[in-house]
Amino acid sequence: MILNTGIESMTESEKVLLQSQQLQKLVERSYEKTSFYQERMQAIGLTPNEIQTINDISKLPLMTSKDLTNNYPFGLLTIPISGIARFQQRSDFNTAVGFTQQDISHQVEMLCRTLVACHIITSSVIMIAPQSLDTDSIVSLQQAAESIGITVISSPLPNVTSQIKTLLDFGVTTIFSTPDILFQLADFLKNAGFSTRDLPLMNILCEAHHCSATVRKSLEEQFQIPVYTIYGLAELMNLGIAGECHKQNWLHIHEDHFYPEIIDPHTGSIISNNQPGELVLTTLSREAMPLIRYRTGDMALLEHKPCTCGRTSARLKLVTAK
Ligand SMILES: [Zn+2]
Repeated sequence: MILNTGIESMTESEKVLLQSQQLQKLVERSYEKTSFYQERMQAIGLTPNEIQTINDISKLPLMTSKDLTNNYPFGLLTIPISGIARFQQRSDFNTAVGFTQQDISHQVEMLCRTLVACHIITSSVIMIAPQSLDTDSIVSLQQAAESIGITVISSPLPNVTSQIKTLLDFGVTTIFSTPDILFQLADFLKNAGFSTRDLPLMNILCEAHHCSATVRKSLEEQFQIPVYTIYGLAELMNLGIAGECHKQNWLHIHEDHFYPEIIDPHTGSIISNNQPGELVLTTLSREAMPLIRYRTGDMALLEHKPCTCGRTSARLKLVTAK
């Protein structure tokens, strides 16, 4: 099942049209509202009028995490602070990402799409290990699950014993956790003379940076159920930028909100021949704090062919995370 067929299964021409319109608006607003983007574009003699289609994106300068710290805390906002619903401050205390209520709603909708894509639906019961995510992501994931009828078990889960008790007591079918916690859980069951098959779990969700192909394989062998990953990045959106479908065929990028590019990390030029490079993302729909051509530091591959699940979104495979 596809939650938002109109978006997730867009034709190539529909996608180009949508992304072109979004990019035009994004550049116009960013140029008008922030001296950062204005100065960057003026420095290379570029005006917003020269950004007409999504293919013009390569004319725009790349940006890095240094630009975020240099403009901390309000320099990249395109709306007044009173319109910001939430600031997510990073652990370095020199970077903060602002979100409007609409930006947060978009995150929730993206997470809904991913849950459905992994066959986590109304009959599912999900438990989110508190140690696995930041508070904001837990709230967004809970909201997403609740909004599409999934039952959420909200619990402090201080240790492995309490996690196993909760999994059994509530018939939890999906757990969002970290591989470390999951391996501890499997070891605990094994040492107590039980098996992971004694749990009601039907699938597992992990953040993509925590779950390499090797780790996933090992988890799937131990639990004998599919492990799906969801990609996020603190500077853009902690969770939900891309997510796997039940085919486990790389991570579907929500291309109505994020435009992906792969660049040569040394020269900054675009790599378009299916070779790995650094992932660059543009927040196409972001209201509060748009990031245009942000260098993620993650090495990745992109696949633009439609997935066998029916979705046409570009898919991402992390090669090495930063
Ligand atoms: Zn798919």
